[in-house]
Amino acid sequence: MTELLSDLRVIYDLHSHTTASDGELSPDELIDRAIEKQITVLAITDHDTTAAIQPAKNYIAEKNLPLTLISGVEISTLWENIEIHIVGLQIDIEHQAITTCLAKQSQCRETRAKMIGERLAKAGIAGAWEGASALAKGGQVTRGHFARFLVNEGHVASVNKVFKRYLAKGKTGYVPPQWCSIGDAVTAIHQAGGVAVLAHPGRYGLSSKWLKRLVLYFKQQGGDAIEVAQCQQPPQEREQHATLAQAYDLKASLGSDFHRPCSWIELGRNLWLPGNVEPVWTLWQG
Ligand code: AMP
Ligand code: MN
Ligand code: MN
Ligand code: MN
Repeated sequence: MTELLSDLRVIYDLHSHTTASDGELSPDELIDRAIEKQITVLAITDHDTTAAIQPAKNYIAEKNLPLTLISGVEISTLWENIEIHIVGLQIDIEHQAITTCLAKQSQCRETRAKMIGERLAKAGIAGAWEGASALAKGGQVTRGHFARFLVNEGHVASVNKVFKRYLAKGKTGYVPPQWCSIGDAVTAIHQAGGVAVLAHPGRYGLSSKWLKRLVLYFKQQGGDAIEVAQCQQPPQEREQHATLAQAYDLKASLGSDFHRPCSWIELGRNLWLPGNVEPVWTLWQG
């Protein structure tokens, strides 16, 4: 009976990354892992790119796998000088509104990556831009790639420490990015037929007053949903985010933000929504 129930369970994971940005699994490998973890509906949401979507779709079709893929993206934006991530779900990846927006974002990434390299060089770390670009293998170059390069080269012991010492806001290698606004991201997502989700609201280091301000602003810009559930989050955060979703009439999303196999984050793990919210997928399932 338990087995039967678990077989019938629909597991959604609406936030994940591949090698198209700073994830470490290729689209095919991510799909294989999602199948292994019995995910039913998976969104691939790489940073400012949809390059993994078509290869993932092809792989699912070729192997005839029991997985629904949601075409997604995670767009970097700036609000009050804070970097806020907006996830787009169910987008038409070929729509000009989204391709134009993402082309600009990629350009910003390239410029910023070169500048990060220059700053790190001044701090005595040579070849960081080349190293990060090589690790990105043609995908979007992120601070994650710089962090990996610095760890691989023995400059710093861990990725987390690289951020603390070099890449976090205000540190030597930090370059203020030129991301689009929240409104620009929401508009591009909507024009491409998608749903706009405020990603991981608990990870911006905001006080509860500022978080409410952000959620209100996002709603005013036409935002549709907020991420309520992640696989690892502080106690009570899920309920707090559910309350915010209710208060601002937003749907609720959930996602692991999977980047790589590790012991604390896994596709589909611990992803469920409190009963007082409406799931984001009602927007496309009706
Ligand atoms: P970027 O979009 O280039 O600014 O890079 C941001 C990415 O770096 C995030 O999506 C995370 O994957 C990663 N990241 C940010 N902060 C940290 C941190 N403190 N430790 C490890 N990874 C981080
Ligand atoms: Mn990332
Ligand atoms: Mn993010
Ligand atoms: Mn993410």
